[in-house]
Amino acid sequence: MAVPRDEGLPFDAKMLDRLAEVSIRVGLNLQPGQDLIITAPVESLPLVRRLAAEAYRNGAEVVTTMLSDDELALTRFRHASDESLDRAPNWIYEAMGEAFDNNTARLAISAANPLLLSGQDPARVARAGKSMSIAAKPAMERITNFTTNWNIVSYPGLAWAKQIFPDMNDEEAVAALAEAIFSISRVDNDDPMAAWESHQKTLTKRQRWLNGQDFHSLHYTAPGTDLTIGLADGHEWKGGASTATNGITCTPNIPTEEVFTTPHGQRVDGIVRATKPLVHQGTLINGIEVRFEGGKIVEAKADEGEEVFLQLLDIDEGARRLGEVALVPHSSPISASGLLFYNTLYDENASCHIALGQCYSKCFRGDIGKDPEAVVKAGGNSSNIHVDWMIGSGELDIDGITKEGKKTPVMRKGEWAYE
Ligand code: ZN
Ligand code: ZN
Repeated sequence: MAVPRDEGLPFDAKMLDRLAEVSIRVGLNLQPGQDLIITAPVESLPLVRRLAAEAYRNGAEVVTTMLSDDELALTRFRHASDESLDRAPNWIYEAMGEAFDNNTARLAISAANPLLLSGQDPARVARAGKSMSIAAKPAMERITNFTTNWNIVSYPGLAWAKQIFPDMNDEEAVAALAEAIFSISRVDNDDPMAAWESHQKTLTKRQRWLNGQDFHSLHYTAPGTDLTIGLADGHEWKGGASTATNGITCTPNIPTEEVFTTPHGQRVDGIVRATKPLVHQGTLINGIEVRFEGGKIVEAKADEGEEVFLQLLDIDEGARRLGEVALVPHSSPISASGLLFYNTLYDENASCHIALGQCYSKCFRGDIGKDPEAVVKAGGNSSNIHVDWMIGSGELDIDGITKEGKKTPVMRKGEWAYE
């Protein structure tokens, strides 16, 4: 199946076929009769076309693609008035929310320049980011509530590749990023479907162990970090595949290395230092250090991008509290690659991380997740944002602590202590 834009790709286009197969069949587990919304940068068309073809072959009915372009995004920052940045096209997100309620699956391709907005006025970036977060709520809410099956997968975009490999020429950089994406997404072997099945078994084993321990909190120690994270009442650890409320079991992130759950929004105390930079809305935020008290960030600083970080914390009430805690061994393939991807999908899967903002209601036992009031009562946080940042390293130790105060090693020097 040749597509025009395949010409001149500096990598084996067959890998895109495999990536499309993994995304549609493992990532989305798309079911016959489902509609699908794909959002993607124009640059990723060679993958988008394969995804649509694979979707239709698996019985999709209507595949709708919404393309974005970095240059067009910059055009707004260059020419639009300050006040106009307070507006965003909410009607798109309302329509998407309605589609998700009607069993439409959701697929996003991540390939854009991660530092696109780094040269723009941080106040304007924050302003546009805030209105976008609010407008996107109807769609975002369905994703965090896991209303439908969804997946995010990557494509080796040029600007992104040059950010990771600044000393290479264009072709070499794209080829190097492509190789990393295909390997980390487990499609660089003859049977990607079997590779994903075996990876899922490992993730399931880890989440079962954690659920069996029923920890009340986790205690993190590392250079610059001495942090206790309470876990939400009735929390459940998840990892890899899980079942959306439309009944379809999907694997939202490709790649994924994490097991994660919902922390208690009121029971986080101590200090924590980020171990990798965070890229938020096109801006690099480096050297984050914060102090939590009663679940809330009461002191925060960053060596770089501090203004954008502080504005992020002030977006709403829940932005200073945690919505996710995730465990990833330091030896994960992404961490082993030694690369900084400037992309949360990749970097968060390199390392233990936490997220500020909205919690995942799927990370609860029984019916708690179905009732928003019960989620709040159990300690689940709510916010318009969900921003992950990395706190894991080869120097991180984590202990699990039960309600009775019994301590169990969970990680030592960044690796699972029990495996
Ligand atoms: Zn995560
Ligand atoms: Zn997250």
